[in-house]
Amino acid sequence: MKLFLEGLNCANCAGKIEKLVSKMPNVREASLSLATGSLVIEECEGFAQEETYNAVVKLVHSLEPHVVVSMNRKQAVATAPCGCDGHEDGHNHGTHEVAIAHGPGHAQGEMDQRQKIELITAIGLFLLGFVFQATLPANLEILTIGVFLGAYLLAGYHVILLAFRNIGHGQIFDENFLMTIATFGALVLMQWPEAAGVMIFFGIGEYFQDRAVDNARRSIAETISFNAITANRVSPEGEVVIDAKQVKVGDVLVIKPGEKVPADGVILQGVSHLDTSPLTGESYPRKAEKGDEILSGMINGNAVLKVLVTKDYENSTAMKIIHLIEEASDKKGKTEKFITKFSHYYTPIVVFSAIAMAIIPPLVISGASWETWFYQSLIFLVVSCPCALVLSIPISYFGGIGRASKEGVLIKGGNYLDVLYQSSVFVFDKTGTLTQGEFKVIKTEPASGFTEADLLTAAAAGERYSNHPIGKAITAHAQIVVDEASLKNYSEIPGKGTQVEVDGQMILAGNRSLLQGHQINLNENEEEGTIVYIAINGKLAGYLVLGDMVKANALAALQQLKKLGVKKTVMLSGDNARVANQIGKQLMLDEVLGDCLPQDKVAAFEQIKTDNKDGKTIFVGDGMNDAPVLAMADAGIAMGALGSDAAIEAADIILMKDDPMDIVKSVDIAKYTRRIMIQNIVLALGIKITVLTMTFFGMGEMYLAIFADVGAAILTILNTTRILRYRGFWQKNRV
Ligand code: ADP
Ligand code: MG
Repeated sequence: MKLFLEGLNCANCAGKIEKLVSKMPNVREASLSLATGSLVIEECEGFAQEETYNAVVKLVHSLEPHVVVSMNRKQAVATAPCGCDGHEDGHNHGTHEVAIAHGPGHAQGEMDQRQKIELITAIGLFLLGFVFQATLPANLEILTIGVFLGAYLLAGYHVILLAFRNIGHGQIFDENFLMTIATFGALVLMQWPEAAGVMIFFGIGEYFQDRAVDNARRSIAETISFNAITANRVSPEGEVVIDAKQVKVGDVLVIKPGEKVPADGVILQGVSHLDTSPLTGESYPRKAEKGDEILSGMINGNAVLKVLVTKDYENSTAMKIIHLIEEASDKKGKTEKFITKFSHYYTPIVVFSAIAMAIIPPLVISGASWETWFYQSLIFLVVSCPCALVLSIPISYFGGIGRASKEGVLIKGGNYLDVLYQSSVFVFDKTGTLTQGEFKVIKTEPASGFTEADLLTAAAAGERYSNHPIGKAITAHAQIVVDEASLKNYSEIPGKGTQVEVDGQMILAGNRSLLQGHQINLNENEEEGTIVYIAINGKLAGYLVLGDMVKANALAALQQLKKLGVKKTVMLSGDNARVANQIGKQLMLDEVLGDCLPQDKVAAFEQIKTDNKDGKTIFVGDGMNDAPVLAMADAGIAMGALGSDAAIEAADIILMKDDPMDIVKSVDIAKYTRRIMIQNIVLALGIKITVLTMTFFGMGEMYLAIFADVGAAILTILNTTRILRYRGFWQKNRV
């Protein structure tokens, strides 16, 4: 079950909710993503979903009254005005639907407003307090204290209430509790302005922190929202504007220039250029005309198109990708898990240090005053919330995923960003991955006793049903109409070729290994290229030679990978060793293995993975016949997967366009994300440790502490949003 929590901006509460939901009797496991506000619950059997749902709603409301829980995103979806960036002119008008629950909902909006007024009043009273302190005579000091106390209560009453409520839930060490204790302490010491100041700064900090988190989420959401909002459906009454969600298979839509395509379909009428950049990151427009496939999320160029819808809105490419990216944040990265664990220990440790600090020095150090050390221990408490980290790390992962999606790269989880930055060996498939996979027949060589026509007729029959690039190239070259009724018992042998019966004749089309498997002897063959042998009734009828071209960016991409620290590049190919080696040399790959059957690829990959002890092993394939290896790799990358459901399912990382350079971009983005996370950790911990050290040596100041605490949180979140604006090497070099 998946629930959406709208308005949840507090990391500590998120952790708490996750922990408490996991402990519910009907729940096996729960995972809450702070980045998207989605709570994924794995339920135990024998419980009604409704029951679990109600229990969760009750729990969430008791902890965070303003958070809205809903079963599906639709209720929680917030709409943002269309002023956002995107494409200069191509845009559906109206509102931009942002699929991520963000921004305050209605109830929360009012709450926000009230909190803001209270806070501003508190600040006013706080300042008035200082004026009184400076001007009023000593006998009226009670007035000054009253004003400070008023400011304190106004800024802090809900913090104190929450602290007590959470103690009831057995969650002692949350930031509300820490602030409450610290300020109570200040009151005991009769430090009135300090008590009020801490609560006010804490309030201001929370406010800006919420803002920062909201903004970060919103920009990520905008990055990945490329779905259309409306559609123009052709109906008997003419053209009607409908909600894009209502688009169904079989509808005929009119797509005007500049509009987003609402659902996948086929063009019935019109010629236009499509901007595929929302899906692929590729801004070069693609020409499309009658009969061409068109995918949701693309932006129509210069002409009106009429399109027959082949997939419902929800099952179309844009929505599938959006769901995929959202779900990506459910798979937590290592750093995120580490920080969650870390914060479990950090807070109690600091709290106990604070207690020790209040008691031990005054007893041990002669002349030390109880009052000074008590005050210093309060400062410790203020600094003990790890909010900055707990907030910024998950947002960093999500930011990295969002940034990659801008390049047409879908990363299915934060954990794969971790794998990418540690990648040290890349293993590639050849056909369709490093080469274009667009074969051309460059030579036909009939055997003695056979004519060219015999050879081509047999080849065309053999490849009639094949979807392999080789088969398609042969069909295209032969230009022979095959009577399908005459074909029987067709089978495709992966990594070898095809076999079919035509009018009682057995035809084989495939590589050396296929024919040798049928006891057909072959001479040595020195041809340059991929050779497909054709046999008729167990006799060699000749062969065809096919050529394939290396992809334009392949060499550059492989070299860039090396620059990014990848140690080894390997190619595994089902093609013959001669062709494989030649391409391997051309691309300067470190290792090449040809003549691989699918199971050989698995075995070879296993060996490479075992040998690679100090890094991650990545496999890049075309996602069709490489599924087993994709699954075995630390991260499996599928190439050119746009529009292919199978590849999108099988891979961990999906490259929407066919460009090998996108692999380099992904690694680069992963490394940058990592760098930002490290910066955030150093920044947050650095500030805290500095304040703690200063405090220990008596230089601490409560204002400084609270400033450090909220300042660190806001700084780290702002730093995180840099990931979205990251300009990689590929943009820097471009003029
Ligand atoms: P790669 O690993 O280079 O992507 P594949 O595993 O897809 O190659 O195919 C391996 C080899 O099997 C091809 O090079 C070809 O010799 C043979 N083969 C596969 N399918 C066919 C087919 N439909 N017709 C002829 N030969 C085929
Ligand atoms: Mg292949």
